[in-house]
Amino acid sequence: MTRHSRRAALKTLAASGLTLAMPDLVRAQSGAARVVVVGGGFGGATAARYLKRHAPGVQVTLVEPSPRFYTCPFSNLYLGGLRDWDSLGHGFDGLRAAGIEVVHAEAQDVDGQARTVTLSSGQKLAWDRLILSPGVDMRWNALAGYDEAAAQRAPHAWKAGPQTQLLRRQLQAMPDGGTFVMVIPENPFRCPPGPYERAAMVAHYLRQHKPRSKVLLLDAKDNFSKKPLFLQGWKALYGDMVEWVGLADDGRVTSVDARALSVQTAFGQTHQADVLNVIPPQQAGWIARRAGVVDASGWVPVKPESFETTQVAGIYALGDATLAAPMPKSAFAANVQGKMAAAAIAAELSGRPVPPAVYANTCYSLLAPGYGISVAGVYRPQHGKLIEVPDSGGISPLQATPGLRAAEAAYGDAWYAAISADVWGRAS
Ligand SMILES: Cc1cc2nc3c(=O)[nH]c(=O)nc-3n(C[C@H](O)[C@H](O)[C@H](O)COP(=O)(O)OP(=O)(O)OC[C@H]3O[C@@H](n4cnc5c(N)ncnc54)[C@H](O)[C@@H]3O)c2cc1C
Repeated sequence: MTRHSRRAALKTLAASGLTLAMPDLVRAQSGAARVVVVGGGFGGATAARYLKRHAPGVQVTLVEPSPRFYTCPFSNLYLGGLRDWDSLGHGFDGLRAAGIEVVHAEAQDVDGQARTVTLSSGQKLAWDRLILSPGVDMRWNALAGYDEAAAQRAPHAWKAGPQTQLLRRQLQAMPDGGTFVMVIPENPFRCPPGPYERAAMVAHYLRQHKPRSKVLLLDAKDNFSKKPLFLQGWKALYGDMVEWVGLADDGRVTSVDARALSVQTAFGQTHQADVLNVIPPQQAGWIARRAGVVDASGWVPVKPESFETTQVAGIYALGDATLAAPMPKSAFAANVQGKMAAAAIAAELSGRPVPPAVYANTCYSLLAPGYGISVAGVYRPQHGKLIEVPDSGGISPLQATPGLRAAEAAYGDAWYAAISADVWGRAS
């Protein structure tokens, strides 16, 4: 091809919206661009659906082992007896109906040079862009005595599934007058307000069924998301049933004896539980480490404009696995990041400029039926990092009418319905 005809071909391709970059030019000539998404949770399923919407010609394959995804959001309400298990499950027919190929397998290896993913089925998928949204893995033994076997007696219930159901059964079997002990890690971890909402939901259940019981929270830090609102709500709704002990008051647990259902704190106190819920330190899902996109922190550094990883070109990461502070590790954040990455990839593959990035988050927490609180923020890239846009966010007021708390509970319900439809489609 002469320089002139090459330039002409590039111009034609650009005009047709196909591509400008060389590797994509090759792809465009040999067939549709291929994007593989690993993880069918909040980040991955969103990215797959929005990419297909922005670029219908792109071949999108979603890899997810489970035929049904159960959400952590609202799993605390299940513990509190306010939701049944089935209402937390979402299937993948909505994605299939949108033209996405859904493969139920585990991604076991990623080759960033050859641009392939190897699946548990032995199948190898080639990709032009790879999106990883594998969520978190527990850091077993980072807390002495807490490993996978210990989680069978002292569940974390920090991934929705059998662990959540086990914790619910333990709660139901707990004697009246018993103590529910929750161990809470330092930041960063999945869902910063999650433990405190769980405390309220457990107290809601206990007040109805075992009113002489207690909820003891042992926390490795002194501050947490929406702290004044939680302290106020626990007191107003449950009196002295919920006790929170922070770092300064010897709240940091240093070892767990799952057999005895007891924990030891930094200053040597022992706490005995009837039900022991240990939320351990976490890290990015292991496939991200396997792909070579994780740094020494255990999380995936990303470019804030697109969520492409800084370690391997062409690999994007979303959601809890990423280092995206000040954005929290939330489903809301993973959903918004999935949309932004999809828009960036669609633009790149068609040679258009990547649209300017802006992100948002809202975390609703339910403290009792008709009693909700929330925190919201808006974020954008600045000098290679994400920053919270000044004066953009907000938090529920401490002085509020019952009407406002009830409205926020209703907003939380509406959010769950809306995000579920947005992520998995209505055919779930
Ligand atoms: C108790 C609790 C309550 C919460 N409540 C809220 C809330 O009210 N609001 C909110 O915004 N957030 C909430 N969250 C946080 C929310 O659950 C997470 O932030 C969100 O799930 C992150 O999305 P993700 O895509 O990163 O990971 P996930 O949604 O966990 O999805 C990860 C998916 O990747 C799959 N996967 C992992 N490895 C592989 C592999 N090798 N191959 C193929 N697939 C793989 C997994 O099977 C999983 O389906 C809560 C969390 C907890 C624990």
